[in-house]
Amino acid sequence: MREFWLNQEHARHQGSGTPESSNRLSLINPANCIIKKGNVSQYSSYFSLAHDKVYLQKLEEEAIQEHEAMCNAGSWQAMASGTALCLEAADSLIKDGKKTFILTRPPGHHAHTDWTHGFCFINNAALTALYLHERHNKKVAVLDFDLHNGDGTEDILNKKESNRLLFISTYQADIFPGPRYNLQVEGMRGDTYHLPLHGTMVDFDFIKIISKIKDRLRQFSPEVLVVSAGFDMNRHESASGLMPSSMQLTRRSYEKLNGLCGEYPSLAILEGGYSPKSIKEGLEAFSLR
Ligand SMILES: [Zn+2]
Repeated sequence: MREFWLNQEHARHQGSGTPESSNRLSLINPANCIIKKGNVSQYSSYFSLAHDKVYLQKLEEEAIQEHEAMCNAGSWQAMASGTALCLEAADSLIKDGKKTFILTRPPGHHAHTDWTHGFCFINNAALTALYLHERHNKKVAVLDFDLHNGDGTEDILNKKESNRLLFISTYQADIFPGPRYNLQVEGMRGDTYHLPLHGTMVDFDFIKIISKIKDRLRQFSPEVLVVSAGFDMNRHESASGLMPSSMQLTRRSYEKLNGLCGEYPSLAILEGGYSPKSIKEGLEAFSLR
């Protein structure tokens, strides 16, 4: 059974009027989660596994003011608490085999070593993977099934040039983060397996993609799986018009993904999903009631 850890501090990050707001988590019933505050003083020294120290300092001073990634007083507490929870979850997974799903925001998978991108500041998935790889000496795969390519995760993990790290990313090929990052054909670039998708997928199409992911994971045989769980391919997202996409995935695809993730010692981290209904339905498929 997976535990759902809800970052008590997430609402301190307000965003800048984009769909990335605390409203995203408004349909989650806190009674079914463990509400936690990350132990930042215990874990913040590891944040530099993925990020430049000067950049982290700027984040802590809340000095980053970019259109989609706007810091306010409280942003650092929100993001650092969420990141610390991811690293605590990694320790828990190794020590007790505990599987968790970290419910936090802002998301992280577009954040690069020393710059923000999308709505992202600290790359929780890349950092957690490096922490597992370097502190716990594990062979780690990261699976990112968000609508958007995890360009920051790719950039950070590929700098390590380790054959004990694999990144798999599905994404709609013709949207953000754009042609510089999105391969238009399926294949490897560095340690990243790109799975570009057309923008009108239904469960039937996506379940075929899941079996490709399954094969790739079996070939690599990771000791641990970190999941960048974005729910912005959900049908509710296209209905709400929050994302430039007509993806129509339902609970069925997410249940398949949950089944696949459950085959490995794994922890999942919330990425995108901007309609509260998308996140609710996605998390229900991962067993959050
Ligand atoms: Zn996304």
